[in-house]
Amino acid sequence: MSTIQVDNPATGEIVGSVPVLGSEQLSVMAARARAAQPGWLELGFKGRGAIMSRAQKWMLDNAERVIQTVISETGKTYEDAQLTDLGYAVMALGFWAKEAPKYLSDERVPSWNNPAVVGRKLIVRYAPHGLVGVIGPWNFPIVNGFGDCIPAMMAGNVVILKPSEVTPLSSLLMLEMLSECGLPADVMQVATGDGSTGAALIAESDCVMFTGSTRTGRAVMKAAAEKLIPCYLELGGKDPMLVCADADIGRAANAAAYWSMNNAGQVCISVERVYVEAPVYDQFVQLVTANIESLRQGAPDGAGSVDVGAVIFPPQLEIVDAHVKDAVAKGARVLTGGHSKVDGGRFYEPTVVVDVDHTMDLMREETFGPVVPIMKIADIEQGVRLANDSPYGLQASVWTKDTAHGEAIARRLEAGAVCVNDVQVNYQALNLPMGGWKSSGIGSRHGAGGIRKYCKTQSLLITSFGFKREIFMFPYARGRTMLLQRFYKFFYGRGKRG
Ligand code: NDP
Repeated sequence: MSTIQVDNPATGEIVGSVPVLGSEQLSVMAARARAAQPGWLELGFKGRGAIMSRAQKWMLDNAERVIQTVISETGKTYEDAQLTDLGYAVMALGFWAKEAPKYLSDERVPSWNNPAVVGRKLIVRYAPHGLVGVIGPWNFPIVNGFGDCIPAMMAGNVVILKPSEVTPLSSLLMLEMLSECGLPADVMQVATGDGSTGAALIAESDCVMFTGSTRTGRAVMKAAAEKLIPCYLELGGKDPMLVCADADIGRAANAAAYWSMNNAGQVCISVERVYVEAPVYDQFVQLVTANIESLRQGAPDGAGSVDVGAVIFPPQLEIVDAHVKDAVAKGARVLTGGHSKVDGGRFYEPTVVVDVDHTMDLMREETFGPVVPIMKIADIEQGVRLANDSPYGLQASVWTKDTAHGEAIARRLEAGAVCVNDVQVNYQALNLPMGGWKSSGIGSRHGAGGIRKYCKTQSLLITSFGFKREIFMFPYARGRTMLLQRFYKFFYGRGKRG
């Protein structure tokens, strides 16, 4: 069996190695998972929730180990690992443990308003798919991977998680955590490997939850279609930020700097492009540039040591560099940064680019790095047009002191989530759905839909009384036919004249 070496992108140090599992191993894992599923379902929400709550405590007790494991394979800053990977998982474990029963308990639907079923008990119930294959990317190895396993398991599914080959260690730690917290064997398993492992996992799954690039997402959906299984895709984005002339420019500029540079820009809902109304453009650019120029970059050495971390995935460095070079070749100006830094670790300088337009890859393709392009717009109408001029539709933000105007603009943007005077923090609102439009995905995580998607629905109709003579019964009789006619008139015919 071949193996993959895991390196620390900030130092180049090899920090681990994992096997590449193939279809044979995946078949064995899937069989074990299926054997474990009935017992797991039998535990009920309370039993499953108790394990998640213990895991929540475990994460807090072992926070340093979790953070250091994430840092070791991503080279991100201490704060990026703490705020997102650790913080999200701590929150999600508690949230789904508490909310799953609410979202998934049986629902009674009314029968009184339909003559065909009046008096019957109508119930919708949620039943787990069985085995959910979760495939994750490398940017947030705990959030987008293990984070999706939590609701899937709370719904009564068993899961096999296939982490990115670049960042498998955090997922293995999550498995260790759950085992220590009493998770029965094989309820969650981790299948390390590469793209072929992901493909083998889909072949074994009853449902697929995929987070990654739009390109791979299409392949995943094709494979799921072949099997005719549900498939949910959280894909790439090119999130626009629209700054109105009446915005709090200081706050907007801070946000542009922070939310384009956090996690070194490797965030699906990062600020990937900024449009600023002409009257405040110069001030905004000056503030953003001053902020970004002052950032410290390098290998993290504990809390507060650096502001911007490494580029996690080796080819990403080339993509980021190519986008900046393409923009410069077409007339853009780099105000700060603009170079790769490869000295032991893999970095790209925090970069501000201006004089950009939509002929440039930097404004059209997902850059996924510490680069913020800023474009001057004549008015917000032009901004809305440009924001929507994208194959992606993951997220967007609007900045104005007039929040009603901001909301009106938000409603015109083609994106699955829009913040007014904020960025990214909506991801922490676990009761608010989060998912992409257009090429950014299908389905969503969080909220009721974020757990119901891991279930099949079963509709139950229960008739607990018996008419001697039912309306629906042979032989047809004129009396009953006319009675039904009256029912229809009574239910549907009132007040509908003219
Ligand atoms: P990729 O699409 O390259 O990979 C994602 C996962 O899919 C990896 O585990 C990868 O394995 C696996 N994979 C590759 N080929 C196949 C295949 N044929 N069948 C099944 N699985 C396969 O994405 P990245 O890892 O590069 O992640 C970055 C992308 O993720 C960005 O586009 C980003 O926007 C997006 N993303 C989206 C989020 C969202 O919520 N919308 C959140 C976070 C990231 P391996 O790595 O081993 O090749």
